Amino acid sequence: MNKFKQLGLNDFLVRAVEDLGFETPSEVQQKAIPELLAQDTDMVALAQTGTGKTAAFGFPMIQKVDVNNRDTQGLILSPTRELCLQITNELQLYSKYVKGLNVVAVYGGASITEQARQIKRGAQIIVATPGRMKDIINRNMVDISTVEYCVLDEADEMLNMGFYEDITSILSHTPHEKHTWLFSATMPKEVASIAKEFMKTPLEITVGVKNSGSDKVQHEYYVVGGRDRYAALKRLADTNPDIFSVVFCRTKRDTQKIAEKLIEDGYNAGALHGDLSQNQRDMVMKAFRTQQIQMLVATDVAARGIDVDDITHVIHYQLPDEIETYTHRSGRTGRAGKSGTSMVIITKSETRKIHAIERIINQKFDARKIPNAEEICEIQLYHLASKIKNTKVNDEVEAFLPAVNDVLEGIDREELIKKLVSVEFSRFANYYKNASDDLNAGGDSSSRSDNGSGSAVRYFINVGARDGYDWKVLKDFLKEQLGLDRDDIFKVEVKDSFSFFNSEAVHTDLILSTFSEFKLDGRFINVEVSKNTRGKSDRGDFGNRKRKRSGNDNWSKKSFGSKGNQNKKGKKSKGKKRF
Ligand code: AMP
Repeated sequence: MNKFKQLGLNDFLVRAVEDLGFETPSEVQQKAIPELLAQDTDMVALAQTGTGKTAAFGFPMIQKVDVNNRDTQGLILSPTRELCLQITNELQLYSKYVKGLNVVAVYGGASITEQARQIKRGAQIIVATPGRMKDIINRNMVDISTVEYCVLDEADEMLNMGFYEDITSILSHTPHEKHTWLFSATMPKEVASIAKEFMKTPLEITVGVKNSGSDKVQHEYYVVGGRDRYAALKRLADTNPDIFSVVFCRTKRDTQKIAEKLIEDGYNAGALHGDLSQNQRDMVMKAFRTQQIQMLVATDVAARGIDVDDITHVIHYQLPDEIETYTHRSGRTGRAGKSGTSMVIITKSETRKIHAIERIINQKFDARKIPNAEEICEIQLYHLASKIKNTKVNDEVEAFLPAVNDVLEGIDREELIKKLVSVEFSRFANYYKNASDDLNAGGDSSSRSDNGSGSAVRYFINVGARDGYDWKVLKDFLKEQLGLDRDDIFKVEVKDSFSFFNSEAVHTDLILSTFSEFKLDGRFINVEVSKNTRGKSDRGDFGNRKRKRSGNDNWSKKSFGSKGNQNKKGKKSKGKKRF
């Protein structure tokens, strides 16, 4: 029997689940759906975005409302317009076979009369942001006195954003007998008191660990001189040619400035901050969602509610003032079963902040070095080579081949490859030619991840994200094949179609012999010692290029059950800890 049917979902919903390709219910779905369906109860669920919580409350709500009655029976409050639209969209997908159900989104920045008109036509479920909901109530454009189920989604976030009064005012228009389902990533005092004030003996469910960051996120920091932050940012991007990231800055001014500089330097970047009009923000978000923008430079406030699942890296251009904002930022990656990396650029004096964050997120940071020119160029070259290998041949080229052959006559294969690669690569080379080679500033950033010994060897392996690996999966794979401990494999960096990892020199023979003639699923897996051993301070002369994202490498499976387990997003709690 379908696993969702076992939770009690009716056939209309199970069909929609099948269309969506969900295979296994996530933890929060397993815990919440049967309870909410079986009884009329209040519920407090500690679950972060990316855990599948929208479906956890959405399915029971859809199944419970009476579609023959046009009154508003379900109300969902969410902190941002983005999230509000996303929830609406999800609920519409879940209810595609439920005839007569209308889900209406109510949010700021769009016509209130149009929203009122949609409600008037009969909206059994309203998904709203608190500010606009309060407005529309005050204008008598909606009647929520018939609400039976009310969801407070991302309650901690709504309170962080100062919506306490709006929420209590909205709830005062709903009947006392309704049932409230509160979802929150963290349980600060304020959320607990909302639960106490507005809920009747709620069922409590917890998914994952309270207040902790996602264990699908690898945390790294880079110590640089204050004036090298921007150069360091570029190098981090250059080492990750397929990066799809949010870069956090502290001020709107910095956000705008960094985005502009990146664009000038040929990166696909965009800015997101409060000084932009709603229209500009929508455009940036659209470009980001479709991955036309690879680096979204954002302020903390503007980035709230960004719900994009495929973000590979979060880069903290500057650390936030409050420690818990860090969890919130880094939770933008490592979502929906995928893994991600959170990279912090700091100056030497800020290293103590790293230790403070480690205590809060209960995870260790990896002290990393900003790669030098040679390392970056090695990665770029591999990337370029695999891009050429994976490029689909354009049939229109055929007609021009004789002419092209004439021009290239007399050049042998090796020479031709060198020239071909140089076309793009030489542009890249110029930037690094004049750049200072080592951007790393003193501190203790050298050894932690080298297991302290400094005799590490760096390896290249010809599998990457395209083959379904992330750093965690690859580490586990290597550990298993080699019979080594988890700590013996470190600095795992997964690129699109290849990866790097480090191990101690004593393991070199084992590693190379294991992977000579090694086949997996009919394909040779090849490991070589990489030319660069990380941390070596030799230099190379390489540089700049215009970058274009090479399409969407979305390899992850639509399942919470397999490779990636459900993830968690850290959230900011009200008891703000400052550095
Ligand atoms: P949420 O935590 O509600 O923001 O959900 C995160 C993402 O996971 C959304 O894109 C959902 O469509 C997707 N999702 C929700 N439930 C499942 C499931 N059981 N299996 C696979 N994907 C899911």
